[in-house]
Amino acid sequence: MKVAETIPQCRAALAADRRGGRRIGFVPTMGFLHEGHLSLVDRARQESDVVVLSIFVNPTQFGPHDDFDRYPRDLERDLALAESRGVDVVFAPPLEEMIPEPSLTTVTMRVVTEAYEGTARPGHFDGVLTIVTKLFHIVQPDVAVFGQKDAQQVAAIRRMIADLDFAVRLVVAPTVRDADGLAASSRNVYLSPEERREALALSRAVGRAADLARQGEGDATRLEAAMREELARSPSLVVEYAAVVDADRFTAVVEVGGPCVAAVAARVGATRLIDNVPLGPDG
Ligand code: AMP
Repeated sequence: MKVAETIPQCRAALAADRRGGRRIGFVPTMGFLHEGHLSLVDRARQESDVVVLSIFVNPTQFGPHDDFDRYPRDLERDLALAESRGVDVVFAPPLEEMIPEPSLTTVTMRVVTEAYEGTARPGHFDGVLTIVTKLFHIVQPDVAVFGQKDAQQVAAIRRMIADLDFAVRLVVAPTVRDADGLAASSRNVYLSPEERREALALSRAVGRAADLARQGEGDATRLEAAMREELARSPSLVVEYAAVVDADRFTAVVEVGGPCVAAVAARVGATRLIDNVPLGPDG
């Protein structure tokens, strides 16, 4: 496994593969790898010949009150996990390499990024889309694998690829859950055992929406009420949203017709968690 810390090193590590016509699969992450990330690596392996994993905790996608400073980091462990999973190239640039000075150019998007995570985290999607653009330019992947776990991010990246003609195919991998149902997340290390029990309400809520939708319930108001009822069973949760949205535009729907997502966000103590399930024809 090659480890590149600079942009030229990353390009050099892939030059021969690119010349040889090998398909490059790319998994961008913020590190502190878990089974969710590693499932994306497995998927990239299926879809391509060379697997590149990036590890970069992107400060521009954190707000001033977010957890950038305390976000968990363990590069040594990440490299061991990546190697054991068959990653070919890890791109782990230091902050100064990716952002040598504050960028004057930003990728920004309307509609898809405006509500839900966009409201809760102003500037978050500008930070995500700008860094993902830079990573796409550095790695130039044929295929990029993202997790359904971050459904609004997937919608934004899908739209950015289409709007800006990136020559990359987006693959979305399903959410990996721990045995108790909680969606795997680097932030789960923040949770005390008690908070973790409370946090299970998120997966129960979206699971309930998925069950009801499978039984034919398509009314967004009733699906949202069912999710809120489930979330209310964990009284210490502070619910930010529980919504049924169009999977592509991430805007509220009245009725599940095309592809939709039932999405929730809540705070458990100091930790902010999100979860979702796809509904509708793709769900
Ligand atoms: P992060 O390191 O949190 O920025 O996540 C990097 C990538 O892993 C994103 O595409 C996430 O959607 C994906 N991811 C995070 N958690 C999970 C999970 N539980 N299952 C599947 N993919 C995930």
